[in-house]
Amino acid sequence: MKRERQKRSASPSQRIKMHILGSAGDVSGSLFYFEYSPPEGKVIRFLLEVGLHQEHEEINRQKRLPKGVDAKDINFVIISHAHIDHSGWLPALVKDGFRGSVYTHPATKDLLDFLLLDSGRLQENAADRVNRFIARRQKKAQASGKKSRRIPMSVPLYTPEDVPLCFPLFKSINYNQLYNIADGIQLRFTEAGHILGAAVVTLTIGKGDEAKTVCFTGNVGRAAPPMLKPLVPVKHADYVITESTYGNKLHQKRDRLSTLAEYINNAYARAKQKDRATGCGVIVIPAFAVDRVPTVLHDVQTLAAQGRIPNLATFLDSRMAIAGAAVYRKYPALFQDDVRQQLEKGLDPFAPARYLECVKPEQTNALYENQSEPIIIVGSSGMAAGGKILRHLEKRLTQKNSTVIFVGYQGTGALGYDLVNKKPKQVRVHGRVLPVRATIEYMSDYSGHADYEEIIDWLRHFENKPRKTFLVHGDGGALEAFKGHIEKALGWSVVVPQRRQCFEL
Ligand SMILES: [Zn+2]
Repeated sequence: MKRERQKRSASPSQRIKMHILGSAGDVSGSLFYFEYSPPEGKVIRFLLEVGLHQEHEEINRQKRLPKGVDAKDINFVIISHAHIDHSGWLPALVKDGFRGSVYTHPATKDLLDFLLLDSGRLQENAADRVNRFIARRQKKAQASGKKSRRIPMSVPLYTPEDVPLCFPLFKSINYNQLYNIADGIQLRFTEAGHILGAAVVTLTIGKGDEAKTVCFTGNVGRAAPPMLKPLVPVKHADYVITESTYGNKLHQKRDRLSTLAEYINNAYARAKQKDRATGCGVIVIPAFAVDRVPTVLHDVQTLAAQGRIPNLATFLDSRMAIAGAAVYRKYPALFQDDVRQQLEKGLDPFAPARYLECVKPEQTNALYENQSEPIIIVGSSGMAAGGKILRHLEKRLTQKNSTVIFVGYQGTGALGYDLVNKKPKQVRVHGRVLPVRATIEYMSDYSGHADYEEIIDWLRHFENKPRKTFLVHGDGGALEAFKGHIEKALGWSVVVPQRRQCFEL
């Protein structure tokens, strides 16, 4: 009998394999491949996340799926949230022949409607830039009579024309409901508090005693997010896969609204000092188009309504952020009470009293003019790495009475990173060298990621120790530190997987 039991456990009748294909050792290109071989019937292959690698773009063109597996072999895809490093490889997968379902929250689908198109435009622009460079070099070589090697033209990974093929594949998954998405596979989303529609993904794979539960955090927000409902506890999982962005850092514990009020009031005092040549100062807030912009606008509205800052004219000048805010207005139930009630009453929680969304070129152009009163301009990109915000910075960085408030993560190489960290006397914007006379402020208080203490507090809700906990979506230092923190606080078995590592669950 004993031997028989041993024999049975040594050769299980089902097999589950998980391949870590992205966000391993770094924070980009989330991609996990699962293969479920039931005791009888067909093997089910699916992807959890289809992220575009934004740090090492060449990876997006490599063979990312496991050996012998093609896009057309994938039965379905699950996407935790709309950020491109979790979703932006989908059009490439569809271009390669994937035709299965894409399970995600309806708000994520609405955000992806414009985010994927924008990603397609960026891919196209990048290829155009390379091709113009190649053409210039070849023309130069021809003119000088030198023989030049023919360099193949760059082809975009995908274009905006490829993106609409993805949309009919989407299937809605709402929070806190159990879905049977395939024979032997159940899926549940719970709130992650990261961006609108973001989900912690809990999957049960297999049937009966052999079923295994995998809980994947996607990206999880702060313990007390500014507007969205907070991260919901999960109580059971055999395996946990958790993000580790702040695995070695703790957020500053200060009041976000008071800090923003202080920065805006100081900026206002400077901006009132009218310069004869350039007029009043301007408060420029570069912010990520999705989530950060509506959060900042809501804070400005709240502070002005409470009389804690002056009632300043506020302009949103970003096509993407305007589209993002419109999606945020569609989902009152996903917010905490104050924002939800405003939306249900038909009020706009993202529109300060004197607010304009710039949808016409003349509205944007008016912002480049000298101002007769201090104003706030909110725009993208959040790191001032591109977008319309650059033209506003080109004008305002040189003004002593203007202020730039950065409200998000600044990646190395971006203009925002240099302004915040290097405090340069001059910078280059659109090819022009400009003196930096404006005041530069930085707030990390708007981070959309929980720090390691906040994630560990969430992990404490699991009633039993998972068999294994995998750490992903963090850089090397964050992953190793987070491993130590979890082992010490919870005594769990923690693994930091390598890219392309495969695990049998
Ligand atoms: Zn994210």
